[in-house]
Amino acid sequence: MPDPTTLARATEILRDVFGYPAFRGLQAEVVQAVVEGNDALVLMPTGGGKSLCYQIPSLLRPGVGVVISPLIALMQDQVAALRQAGVRAAFLNSTLDAAETRAVEQALAAGELDLVYFAPERLALPRTLDLLGRTPLALFAIDEAHCVSQWGHDFRPEYLQLSVLHERFPDVPRIALTATADPQTRTEIIDRLALGDARVFVSSFDRPNIRYTIVDKADPRSQLLRFIRDEHAGESGIVYCLSRRKVDETAAWLVAQGVDALPYHAGMDAATRAEHQTRFQRDEGIVMVATIAFGMGIDKPDVRFVAHLDLPKSIEGYYQETGRAGRDGLPADAWMTYGLADVVQQRRLIDLSEANAEFKRVATAKLDALLGLCETAGCRRVRLLSYFGETSEPCGNCDTCLEPPETWDATEAARKALSAIYRTGQRFGAVHLIDVLRGKPGERIARWGHDQLGVFGVGADVDEPVWRSVFRQLAALDLVHVDHEAHGALKLTEASRAVLKGEQRVELRRVRAATGTRRSRRVAPSSLPPADMALMDRLRAWRLDLARSQAVPPYVIFHDKTLAEIARVRPRDLNALGDIGGVGTKKLERYGDELLALLASA
Ligand code: ADP
Ligand code: ZN
Repeated sequence: MPDPTTLARATEILRDVFGYPAFRGLQAEVVQAVVEGNDALVLMPTGGGKSLCYQIPSLLRPGVGVVISPLIALMQDQVAALRQAGVRAAFLNSTLDAAETRAVEQALAAGELDLVYFAPERLALPRTLDLLGRTPLALFAIDEAHCVSQWGHDFRPEYLQLSVLHERFPDVPRIALTATADPQTRTEIIDRLALGDARVFVSSFDRPNIRYTIVDKADPRSQLLRFIRDEHAGESGIVYCLSRRKVDETAAWLVAQGVDALPYHAGMDAATRAEHQTRFQRDEGIVMVATIAFGMGIDKPDVRFVAHLDLPKSIEGYYQETGRAGRDGLPADAWMTYGLADVVQQRRLIDLSEANAEFKRVATAKLDALLGLCETAGCRRVRLLSYFGETSEPCGNCDTCLEPPETWDATEAARKALSAIYRTGQRFGAVHLIDVLRGKPGERIARWGHDQLGVFGVGADVDEPVWRSVFRQLAALDLVHVDHEAHGALKLTEASRAVLKGEQRVELRRVRAATGTRRSRRVAPSSLPPADMALMDRLRAWRLDLARSQAVPPYVIFHDKTLAEIARVRPRDLNALGDIGGVGTKKLERYGDELLALLASA
């Protein structure tokens, strides 16, 4: 039976230690269940607040909470943040030397820790199990629990050994957490971690503070630059590219344009990569240009945008990558440019992969679902959530909700495009076909005699960007097939015939102005009046100094959200300051007077 005093005690810790007035979503239920000794499986989106689900029970239950986390950088930041809040936390991983390790182990055995973080490979070692056997344990928290899934892309074999916890310590409650939404992974986690009796908590996977925008690709670099300058000047963000070379080139180009950008990909040496990651986390306003090798270890709450210059492979990938934006709950952007070349490239990667037919079929279906998201004239969020099995209403916070795209009857244009493919022998790509349609003379056109064809110039009345969007949408709709054996030549498909014969109407999205975003109307809830903004800048500078002197990331001291609230409210005394979200007792003690002095002088 749930005990009402459990929740009261948990809420007290939430306020006192973490400085938050109330639990969010399913947190209260999870905390209650775990404090009372139940196993739990928690599925919550990134930024949903999973950490408190095991941190608070660790503080409430006797003994130490043991957290298994695969990511060393993340572990270190969490421990730093907990210590700031006055929690007795430590970690054991490969970055510690023998003496440091021994010190942590002694503190653990002496019952001097509330929380201890372990890398998974340590946990199953006899030495560790012995140590834990001698220590009163509050719980085991298995973070990023999807790492146990052999089909997922984050599979870590060490996670399979975690079933030993249940065998060795059957009475210690376990809580497994993940932001991976699909049912298959869920089943695998329950199976492999023997969580059959666990209570399962599933939150909505919506990230309401993220605004989704997908723009037609025209001149992607300039579109990106304009997006960064107009909407995110001086803010942290991630730009994803498919290839290492493109990462390097894009980062260099952004730097030349005055953006504080750094590259990150698996081809760089480990030291440089680590340095870039650290700078991204510790400095403010860095734009990381990266392949998807970058991301999983990133716990930075104030990433204000994630931009894609290339198409991800699937909606899962898109959701996971864009999910790194706005963990702090403040407005953030997921922005992508998308064009025919992306469709061609992704289909090509699938066709050329060595995988078996079954894998290719699945990959194609996943890509098609993503293309559906790109081409939809309806709400992006509704599409995204429905992919994860959630129903929702149009969100009002995506590009298609904010500026509903026009559609047009493109039947005639589609027929012309398909005839151009057919008449030129199904051996040319879109660029050449558009020249034919627009009647653009040229050496190549003449060499092939394409200026003699009936289709030459039949589409002169339609602009080139519109033709590009027609071919892209035809490819996305599978009305055109891209043949990679033939250097990306476009070919007809089964489905094209009905269109060619005039038996099927084709409705397409009208191409948007090539500038990408036009959102001067945007009013971010986070945006502060100029006077508060100035104060916010001073608070940030103060925080950065502190962070540097303590060698921790700035957000470990206070989140932007907390600083913004301080700038808006301008508390005059410690009491009022303590009421601000994110200011717990320890931080008030530590920084209160300094902050009040700063506020008084502002
Ligand atoms: P996750 O691990 O699920 O991605 P975190 O545990 O890092 O999410 O939490 C995301 C952010 O939300 C953090 O900044 C955290 O401090 C904040 N947060 C969590 N729970 C609450 C709450 N109840 N009230 C206010 N902020 C919260
Ligand atoms: Zn919407």
